[in-house]
Amino acid sequence: MDRYAVAGNPVEHSKSPCIHARFAEQTGQALEYTRLLVPLDAFAPTLREFAAGGAKGCNVTVPFKFEAFAAAARATPRATLAQAANTLRFDADGWLADNTDGAGLVRDLRHNAGFDLAGRSLLLIGAGGAAAGALGPLIEAGLRRVVVSNRSAERAQALVQRHAALAQRCGVALDAATLDGCGEGFDLVVNGTAASLQGAGVPVSGRVLARGALAVDLMYGPAAVGFLQWAAEHGAQGRDGLGMLVEQAAESFALWRGVRPDTAPVLAALRGA
Ligand code: NDP
Repeated sequence: MDRYAVAGNPVEHSKSPCIHARFAEQTGQALEYTRLLVPLDAFAPTLREFAAGGAKGCNVTVPFKFEAFAAAARATPRATLAQAANTLRFDADGWLADNTDGAGLVRDLRHNAGFDLAGRSLLLIGAGGAAAGALGPLIEAGLRRVVVSNRSAERAQALVQRHAALAQRCGVALDAATLDGCGEGFDLVVNGTAASLQGAGVPVSGRVLARGALAVDLMYGPAAVGFLQWAAEHGAQGRDGLGMLVEQAAESFALWRGVRPDTAPVLAALRGA
């Protein structure tokens, strides 16, 4: 049976094994998908050992997405723009890095949340692997204005610089900002930080939300509850990262297996559970 895993630290909260098991059943693919807890100082050796054992690929989560990109021999254009990978395919002639986070987020916003991105303003909080993967596809989705805000402001600036040419081609006003200087009244706010995962509070003021804005935390499950409460307290519609998780997983599955699963019943089952 072909083997895959989600590699991260922490990783025990991940619902990816459950999602890929449902995709495999739905598409008739024989595969096993597990969690791989990777020591913080040993990403590359741990993954090399996993691949040498016959595994075909993996998803990569916090905090290893930049290391995953660096460990691959080749990368898709979207992973190259992000300089971060959430998907590795262990090809015999070298590992391929991809990043399906942004495509998954945009698809969740459009198809599952029914949110029209055209002409809207976005505050993207975070400049780690998840935010890096999300930014390119968000810029290409027809937004009018995007501000990237991060605790370490220089990381936000570097991310914005790397996407400046794309933003110009797409006619998007793109800027970097600090957490307390990121502005007010955004139509869409995406928390791409690890703050919720760590049990820390929402790292920006409620003023960033326009009335009726959509506020999305990439975290899901109990750890996202604080963010969703914050959104409701400020008159925004809250959304967790479960839809994105299922959509990015479907993109990874398609890369590995050449077949695209139907995400709707899997997301419905997870929400039901
Ligand atoms: P990284 O470790 O690469 O980046 C972490 C980011 O969070 C950095 O921008 C960091 O800022 C910021 N940060 C960490 N702690 C705090 C805090 N207490 N206050 C403010 N900012 C903070 O992680 P990833 O980008 O890979 O993952 C981020 C989150 O997104 C995780 O919770 C992950 O589970 C979730 N995720 C969900 C997905 C989904 O499909 N739903 C997909 C991908 C990720 P600084 O640069 O200053 O350190």
